[in-house]
Amino acid sequence: MNYVDTKLYINGQWCDASDGKTLPVVNPATGLEIGRVAHATIADLDRALASAQAGFDLWKKVPAVERGKIMRQAANLLRERATEIGTLMTLEQGKPLGEAKGEIVMAAEVTEWFAEEGRRVYGRVVPPRDFSVNQSVVKQPVGPVAAFTPWNFPINQVIRKLAAALATGCSIIVKAPEETPASPAALIQTFLDAGVPVGVINLVYGNPAQISEYLIPHPIIRKITFTGSTAVGKQLAAMAGLHMKRATMELGGHAPVIIAQDADVELAAKAITGAKFRNAGQVCISPTRFLVHQDLEASFVKALVGQISTIKVGDGLADGTSMGPLANGRRLNAITQFVEDAVQTGAKIATGGQRIGEVGNFFAPTVLTNIQPQSRVFNEEPFGPIAAVKTFTHLDEAITEANRLAYGLAGYAFTSSLKNAHQITQDLQVGMVWVNQPPMAWPEMHFGGINDSGYGSEGGIEGLEAYLNLKSISIKQ
Ligand code: NAD
Repeated sequence: MNYVDTKLYINGQWCDASDGKTLPVVNPATGLEIGRVAHATIADLDRALASAQAGFDLWKKVPAVERGKIMRQAANLLRERATEIGTLMTLEQGKPLGEAKGEIVMAAEVTEWFAEEGRRVYGRVVPPRDFSVNQSVVKQPVGPVAAFTPWNFPINQVIRKLAAALATGCSIIVKAPEETPASPAALIQTFLDAGVPVGVINLVYGNPAQISEYLIPHPIIRKITFTGSTAVGKQLAAMAGLHMKRATMELGGHAPVIIAQDADVELAAKAITGAKFRNAGQVCISPTRFLVHQDLEASFVKALVGQISTIKVGDGLADGTSMGPLANGRRLNAITQFVEDAVQTGAKIATGGQRIGEVGNFFAPTVLTNIQPQSRVFNEEPFGPIAAVKTFTHLDEAITEANRLAYGLAGYAFTSSLKNAHQITQDLQVGMVWVNQPPMAWPEMHFGGINDSGYGSEGGIEGLEAYLNLKSISIKQ
C-alpha cells in the first residue's frame, strides 16, 4: 500500500497550505521519507477559524439523535477501514499493524459510546420559590474547540476529543501531529464520509507553537484540549487561563507498579509486560517505576525477562512483530541516555539496554535493576521501552515512593490481599489505578490525571461534560 501525502482540511476542502509549504514524514522503521504534510499559514488558520464558527452555528442545531446516527456510521466505516488506516499508522508511527488496527477498532467504540451518551445530555428542573416561575438548568455546547494531539496514538488521541466534541454539538479544529499525519487525516475522512457537515471538523498541521499561540487566544475558540508533555501542557494551560478558555490537559506520567509481597509474580509479569512494551513504551500510562517487594525481586525479574524474550522487535508491517521502532530519533536518543545515566548511577541491565541495528529507531526491551532514586529514569518520564526496578521492604515505603513525583496519571499494583489493594487504591495519588490487571482504557471510564499529569477527563460522562456549558434558566409567567 502506498503512503499518501497529507493535506489540510478546511471549510469542506482538502487543500495545500496557502504558501505551498510542506514537511517531510519519515518511516521510523527505515529512516526514509515516505511522504509530505502540508504546513498551515496564519491565513489557513483564519480560514479554519471562520469555518469552525460556521460549523458550530450549524451543528449545535442538529438534534443529538441525528448527530449520533452520523457518528455511528463513522464508527462502522472505521471498522471497515481498520487495515487500510492501520497500515498508514504503522508506516508513519512504527507500531505493529495489530496494535494500529486495535487502536482504530477502539476509536470506533469511543465514537459509539459518545454518540449514545450525547443523547443523554440532560439538564434538570429545579423547584422554584415562586410557583409562577419555571426554573431549569440546561447544558449547551461550549463552542468551537481547538484540539492538539500527539504522535504516539495518532488516532486515539484525536478520537477522544473529536467524538466528545461532535456528540455535544461543538465544532473542532484538530491540530494533529506532523510526524504521523496520514492516519488522523484518514480518521477525519471517515467522519466526512459518514455525513458530518462542512465546517464542523477542520484539520491543520504546521508549527505547533505558532498554531497554539494563534488559536488559543482567538475569540472564536471557546475550549482547548491538549495531549502531550507536561512542559508544553503548562504553557498551553497558562495561555488558556490568560484568555479564560476551558481546558482539558492530558499530560505525561511516570506510573508506579507495586508488586506487593503477596503478589502472584507470574500473573504480574505477564500482565505488565504487554502494558509496558505496547507501542514501545511510548504511552502516557505506561508502567515505568517497578517497585518490587525485596522477597520477590529475583523471581519477578526472572519472570519479566522470560516474558520479554517472547517479544519480537521489528518493522511493524512484518509478520510476527510485537514491538516496533521508537517513533522518532528524539526518543531513541532519550532512551539511550536514560540507560547510560542509570548504569552510571549503579543500575544493572537485566536484559536489553541498547539500540538494535543501525537502521530505524529500534531499541531492545529493557529491564534495569538496582535503580537509584536519583537516576533520571526514576524521575523523568521515560516514554520508551524501559522497566526500571527498585525494591522495598514495607508497603508504606512503596506508596511513598509511588507518590514522590509530581506526576499523577496511572498506577498499578499486584497483590492477593484485599487489604493491600484497598490501601494502594486509596493512597496512590493518580487519576487511574489498575490492580492485578493490565490497563483497560474503556470509553465509559474516566481517563485523566492529577497534579503535573493535567486535569479534566477524556472518558466517561466526565469526558462529555468537558464540552458543555451550564445555563440556569428562570422564566416568570
Ligand atoms: P514535545 O514536548 O515537544 O511535544 C509533545 C507534543 O506536543 C507533540 O505532539 C507536539 O507536536 C506538541 N507540541 C509541542 N509544543 C507545542 C506547542 N507550543 N503548542 C501545541 N502543541 C505543541 O516532545 P516530543 O518529543 O514530541 O515528545 C516527548 C515527550 O512528550 C515525551 O517524553 C512525553 O513525555 C510527552 N508526550 C506525552 C504524550 C501523552 O500521551 N501524554 C504523547 C506524546 C508525547
